[in-house]
Amino acid sequence: MNVIKLYNTQSRQIEEINPSNSDGILRIYCCGPTVYNYAHIGNFRTFLLQDVLCRLLITVGYRIKFVRNITDVDDKTIHGAQRENISLQSFTERWTDIFHRDCEALNILLPDVEPKAASHIAEQIAMIETLIKKEHAYVTADGSVYFRLSSFPDYGKLSKIDTRQLATQGENSAGRTNLADEYDRDSVHDFALWKAHKVEDGDVFWESPWGKGRPGWHIECSAMSMKYLGETIDIHGGGIDLCFPHHENEIAQTECVTGKPFVRHWFHSEHLRIEGQKMSKSLGNLFTLTDLINKGYAADVIRYALIGGHYRQILNFTLSGLDAAQSALGKLRAKVVNLSKETHFSPGENLFHPNVLYHYLNTAIEALKNDLNVPKCLGEIFSILNDNTNGNESFLRELYALCFILGIEKFVFDQGKNEKFVEIPSDIAKLAAQRWQARCNRDFEESDRLRQLLTERGWSIVDRREGYELEKIK
Ligand code: AMP
Ligand code: ZN
Repeated sequence: MNVIKLYNTQSRQIEEINPSNSDGILRIYCCGPTVYNYAHIGNFRTFLLQDVLCRLLITVGYRIKFVRNITDVDDKTIHGAQRENISLQSFTERWTDIFHRDCEALNILLPDVEPKAASHIAEQIAMIETLIKKEHAYVTADGSVYFRLSSFPDYGKLSKIDTRQLATQGENSAGRTNLADEYDRDSVHDFALWKAHKVEDGDVFWESPWGKGRPGWHIECSAMSMKYLGETIDIHGGGIDLCFPHHENEIAQTECVTGKPFVRHWFHSEHLRIEGQKMSKSLGNLFTLTDLINKGYAADVIRYALIGGHYRQILNFTLSGLDAAQSALGKLRAKVVNLSKETHFSPGENLFHPNVLYHYLNTAIEALKNDLNVPKCLGEIFSILNDNTNGNESFLRELYALCFILGIEKFVFDQGKNEKFVEIPSDIAKLAAQRWQARCNRDFEESDRLRQLLTERGWSIVDRREGYELEKIK
């Protein structure tokens, strides 16, 4: 088995990734977008890095179940819908579609499940009821429910928040509440699980045992991750800003309900800044994908620029950096055009070989396997390409696999004029990788089921000793 190592925010160490469940499936949950506006390129940096991680895992043979939620009920979505005088649902559906369109342009794989908070109110209420029953939560006079911070001594274990501050605050716990979903360390008090209905919420409310209201933000991720991935999940991801309070609160809620560890591995990515500054509307430096496409950059180039820095370091995004990305990607593509002329390689016929040792590009894949070092991987690819002027099939196969992991395979290998190219949709590639893993695990029933699914979608698999090939059924 290929070993993948990743920094764990909780242990502050680089650790091996492995599934805890006996079915061998790695369970991954990432906090998704709040759908009230265009996602900005900072959001996409985070989603793209999660995508690179998923692509790496499936390419080297892991089976994953990846859940990324949609936050469609909070102050921002409610205000947005009210401003336009439309229902919350039509408002959030429109922004969800736009988010999906941007993800597709950026070649981000679809999650296996994409649950919406507003469609999981019952699950959230059930969790809150359990918390009240276990005395980890209490109801206030207005019908709101708060998590009792002092009832969870482990609070702060992820973000290493100052426990002295918590100790003082714990004494006042029942008296000091915080209704806000987002707050900083100075205002850590008992946080809201359920918010009683206010006039400002208009027609957005659900009935609950505590009266009309709506869930607080944090509980949705606890309820939906538990529903789709179980009580303990292998990897939980998000931007670094979510570490506190959102993820700390998710831990508190879930662990108090289940009595089990919630997450084995926390994967946080650092923020993106623009020309050294925090991105914000007021500074006029907030870019969406469309803004950059309108400036003439291809989505693949934007993807390349956004994944180019190490995920644990702040990415300083600049337009000149985007120009550099354009030129690097162009070089890579031109090199592949040249090399493919001399070989019979066609990515459509020869795809994943999880068992094959990387002969030419080993240092490049190793960089990814060791704490997802994308910049090092790219550096290795370019230096190896500079030395390697002779095209050969194995070399191009390895390069294709690496480009697939980085999500730039369509741009680099779809030469347009190259009739040999058969584009493999990423969901097909993912299914094929899952089938291969099932076969390696001797789970032949699952392997047959996935093969059948692929056939229905027009793809056949040819197994080889060292891997498999995907062919389009004519
Ligand atoms: P939101 O839609 O605000 O809930 O954010 C979606 C994701 O984007 C979360 O994982 C955030 O942590 C992440 N995020 C927000 N701002 C930035 C930024 N400037 N750079 C990178 N990630 C960000
Ligand atoms: Zn979350």
